[in-house]
Amino acid sequence: MKLPFRVGLRGELLLLMAGVLVVVVALFTALWWHEKRSNADARELSAGAMREMAREGLLSRGQTLSSQLADAATNPLYYLDLAKLGELARATLRQPDVVYVIIHDANGQVVHDGSGDIPAFGQPMSDPMAYEALNAQNVHGQWSDKLLDVASPIRIGDERIGGVRVGLSRENANRREIEMLGPLGERLQAASNEHLGWLLALLAALVGIAIVAMVLLQRRIVQPISELAVATARVEQGRYADVRLHSDRQDEIGELVRAFSRMSDSVARHDRDIRRMAYTDSLTGLSNRLAFREALDERLLTLQASSGELALLFVDLDDFKRVNDTLGHEAGDEVLGQLSMRIRMAVERLGGLGTEIARFGGDEFIVLFMAEDIRTSSGRLAESLIEEIQRPLVLRGRQVFLGASVGITLFPFDAASAGQLLKNADIAMYQAKVAGKGCYRFYSKAMDQAVERRVQLEEELRGAWDRGELSLHYQPIYRLADRRLMGAEALCRWQHPRLGVVPPSVFIEVAEQSGLIESLGRHVLVQACKDAATWTPPGGERPFVSVNISPRQLRTGDLPDVVASALAATGVLPQQLHLELTETAVLGDEVQASALLSRLRATGVKVWLDDFGTGFSGLSHLRRVPVDGVKIDRSFVADVLRDPDDLALTSAIIAMAHSLGITVVAEGIEAEGQYAVLRERGCDQGQGFWLGRPMVAADIQRNFSE
Ligand code: C2E
Ligand code: MG
Ligand code: MG
Repeated sequence: MKLPFRVGLRGELLLLMAGVLVVVVALFTALWWHEKRSNADARELSAGAMREMAREGLLSRGQTLSSQLADAATNPLYYLDLAKLGELARATLRQPDVVYVIIHDANGQVVHDGSGDIPAFGQPMSDPMAYEALNAQNVHGQWSDKLLDVASPIRIGDERIGGVRVGLSRENANRREIEMLGPLGERLQAASNEHLGWLLALLAALVGIAIVAMVLLQRRIVQPISELAVATARVEQGRYADVRLHSDRQDEIGELVRAFSRMSDSVARHDRDIRRMAYTDSLTGLSNRLAFREALDERLLTLQASSGELALLFVDLDDFKRVNDTLGHEAGDEVLGQLSMRIRMAVERLGGLGTEIARFGGDEFIVLFMAEDIRTSSGRLAESLIEEIQRPLVLRGRQVFLGASVGITLFPFDAASAGQLLKNADIAMYQAKVAGKGCYRFYSKAMDQAVERRVQLEEELRGAWDRGELSLHYQPIYRLADRRLMGAEALCRWQHPRLGVVPPSVFIEVAEQSGLIESLGRHVLVQACKDAATWTPPGGERPFVSVNISPRQLRTGDLPDVVASALAATGVLPQQLHLELTETAVLGDEVQASALLSRLRATGVKVWLDDFGTGFSGLSHLRRVPVDGVKIDRSFVADVLRDPDDLALTSAIIAMAHSLGITVVAEGIEAEGQYAVLRERGCDQGQGFWLGRPMVAADIQRNFSE
């Protein structure tokens, strides 16, 4: 049965008890009623028996009196001796209870009634009992309410000469009956009262037992179960700390309570574990994005109230992908673990209360930082973070060098919401990357515009080749010994419809980041080969064309196929094509790059290391990477006349390269003096504004013809 409201175990128990009590009381009432009924019956029966006894007594006295009178009156009646009859009648009348005496003849006419002058003499008997009395053959009694009439016939021989009737009053008998019934009723009443007393005592005992049973049930079963129910509700709400259950009882309830307590502990433990898993980064043990967002939201709320300040530092490792690609993901994980420790220590050293560190996935870390003079101190923290990350890591006996770029945004100066702050920090970090990595930048509104411009540039760069906005210029490359034109470097130009000529230093970066470089690189390669195929110097030796290859093109791995199809399509010989790769592109993955370069070189294509000297590989690197030539970076050439160190380094590169059988090309020759000194030091080839500016393909052909 379903009740429309909640009763609860206690209520149910009370209802049950009330039900039992009602039934018990009803049973007792029925018992009491039955008892009363049987009492009344007993009384009735006793009264009946007594009445019967009194009747019998009266009847037998009446019979005795009547038959004695009849015997005595036989002769006087026969002789009609009225005096004698009168004497007999009066004698009988004097007997107790006798009300009347009638002596009558055979016709039923009164002969004597004990009175003096017998006024009824000769009168027929007219009372209702007369007929039966007259016809009675033996002693015959008749009853009325008040009387017993006993008639006896008087016979002489067989002849009936008359009869007598004696009337006895029932009054005395009735009184005696009442006198006897009184005490009997009292005794019965007393017995019944005693019964009732017992019944009530029994009832009281039953009620008492019921109450005791209820209290025991309540204490021993209902209350523990209610407590369990409350505890269950708390577990459901996740309020594990509020669940305090304990029982020493050695019964099922005790076992239940203990089992529940153990269960709740285990649920609480699992809950904690799950929370920890959901809120921490398993690799570093730092908070994860989710936990950080919550912490940041909470912190901003309190800071808004107290008008406090905080800094958000977005730390992104530079070239972390290199570690993963070169040393494998396990090593990458180890690097992240070690660096997260360093970050944590640096933050703990400089950070005040309420600092939070989280890993945002990949190689991104974020630090929530609070301190006095937030701008200065967060700048200091960024510096020390970069320094810490740049310290060499030792990984399986190898030293690994990494760097980091940091973006900083300040609350409440830059933004008020968590989402906007995170976005700002990301933008600032990105600007640090653009600025050359390994540094930090504070967010500024201008960055938004820079980002916007960049996004727009990327949009516009997409499809620029198909629209014919991108073209190739060629910078001639000469042999220094005799200033003979050997070939040219293909350099991309973007004729932007609105901005005019956009230099590759601007858009190549965008193409790299967005991945557009892959298709752009293919177009450049094919176009450069096409143009080179038109160059026909009179001397016969075929000129080369040098094409810049981005690190990203190297990573995709299909470069040999792209090169092969470009050569096949244009008829340019493999040895006419030079590929320029930067040191960092090759360095990123020495093993894979070496394999790729070997494959390319096997087809006859030449590989040159561009901007040599600016990276950090050092000269020894040249031994390990299979290349055909190096291009000494412009920055060394620029100072070669003024700075003896640069001259020394340039000379060393030339000597080293030659010892390995590698060609050396100098970039950015802007003056005759530079040209002279490089030629003197044995540099093989050179390019630069003094020798020739980048020009269209047709102009290169003209240069050959001259
Ligand atoms: P890079 O490969 O080192 O190219 C040489 C750069 O030096 C060119 O700048 C060239 O114009 C400039 N240069 C040549 N001689 C002199 C000189 O005497 N003085 C000065 N100050 N500069 C000189 P540009 O064309 O702006 O190209 C810049 C960089 O863009 C290139 O550096 C190259 O790394 C990249 N690049 C250009 N075109 C392509 C391309 O098609 N694909 C790829 N992946 N990168 C390209
Ligand atoms: Mg180049
Ligand atoms: Mg260069």
